[in-house]
Amino acid sequence: MNAQAKPLPDTDALWMPFTANRQFKAAPRFLVGASGMYYTTHDGRRVLDGTSGLWCVNAGHCRTEIAEAIARQSRELDYAPGFQMGHPMAFEAASRVARIMPPGLDRIFFTNSGSESADTALKIALAYHRARGEGQRHRFIGRERGYHGVGFGGISVGGIGGNRKTFSANLMPGVDHLPHTLNIAEAGFSRGQPQWGAHLADDLERIVALHDASTIAGVIVEPLAGSTGVLVPPQGYLERLRAICSRHGLLLIFDEVITAFGRLGAATASEYFGVKPDIITLAKGINNASVPLGAVAVNRPIYDTVINAANPDSIELFHGYTYSAHPLAAAATVAALDIYQRDGLFERARSLSGQFEQAAHALRGAPHVRDIRNLGLVAGIELESREGRPGSRGYEVFLRCLERGVLVRYTADILALSPPLIVEPAQIEQMFATVGEALKAIP
Ligand code: PLP
Repeated sequence: MNAQAKPLPDTDALWMPFTANRQFKAAPRFLVGASGMYYTTHDGRRVLDGTSGLWCVNAGHCRTEIAEAIARQSRELDYAPGFQMGHPMAFEAASRVARIMPPGLDRIFFTNSGSESADTALKIALAYHRARGEGQRHRFIGRERGYHGVGFGGISVGGIGGNRKTFSANLMPGVDHLPHTLNIAEAGFSRGQPQWGAHLADDLERIVALHDASTIAGVIVEPLAGSTGVLVPPQGYLERLRAICSRHGLLLIFDEVITAFGRLGAATASEYFGVKPDIITLAKGINNASVPLGAVAVNRPIYDTVINAANPDSIELFHGYTYSAHPLAAAATVAALDIYQRDGLFERARSLSGQFEQAAHALRGAPHVRDIRNLGLVAGIELESREGRPGSRGYEVFLRCLERGVLVRYTADILALSPPLIVEPAQIEQMFATVGEALKAIP
């Protein structure tokens, strides 16, 4: 332990989320500080953040302007009720978010997380159909391997078996799933969007025929699926989903909790792919993850329909959170959006994506590598699983990288890299070189 070491806390009381608690507590790993591209560990080591925390710290850590905006706001107005009262920063944050959404998706509902954004989007879709006299449209179509957080709505439309099985008897009724788009045999080692797979969107026609369009409210997908292990949409796939939804009056919801705010080199994946959904869910990068905040961006007709269907003095949507547009989170959002814009970080991500792709695919042929997938500043490296011990290889690579000073993320045996958009070219090389060394070091 070096001179900067801090005393370790007692780990008993905390039930850690999405963590192997016993494994962690037997050998804890603490992050105690952060700045720019780096974390500091409890024993004083600097660790390059290859994952933007959890895909969220897009402008790098501890940005002074954001910290100051939060501090200023907490002195001026710490909290204001958002129900039947407003505070200026909430409206300012909404206007600023609306400005970088695809044209027309400029009505913003604030939540506190991606999970809440997903559930809110589903509720808004139901409210919209009901307001226009089609309340029988109650079904949702998600996708296998989709991740939409951990609320009951989100896990119902989500498609990760492990997140669903314990709760399976209590999931939302009326949900069906599209097939996921990963096929390593057909499209392994694709650089950017795979050429194979657009036809998988046509399965939506089959599902619509099965249930009848008149019973379906909407379709929710991540335009690029992150948490499940980086599944990049095949060329033409999202366009087909859009066309089928439009044909049948289904709302298309893009879950952009990971992809918005520059991850692909544009403000949204929608802008990047040139495919416009009706609703977009947001969180994470919205304020550089400095204060919990999520949001749902909705197109004007949806907002107008729901609002105008109610009496002028009635609440139109019976939904909201004590902390919707919390002043600190809203102030942090304005400050973060200022940084993204002033520093041109979305453009920076785009300009680095070619080098990022090269560096990722240079690992082709490294031990255990089964597939490499990438887009923008996201890469997934899928490893061969060990017989009878799935996930153990991913975990060991994660540990080895951490020892070597780079934080990577792993989902079972898929590694994911998604650094802050301020990453330097040499740091990109370091991240992938470290993964390469770790792969060589493990059986
Ligand atoms: N939706 C997507 C696409 C996500 O990637 C995530 C989190 O990774 C969520 C929703 C859930 O967000 P949160 O953890 O803030 O609830």
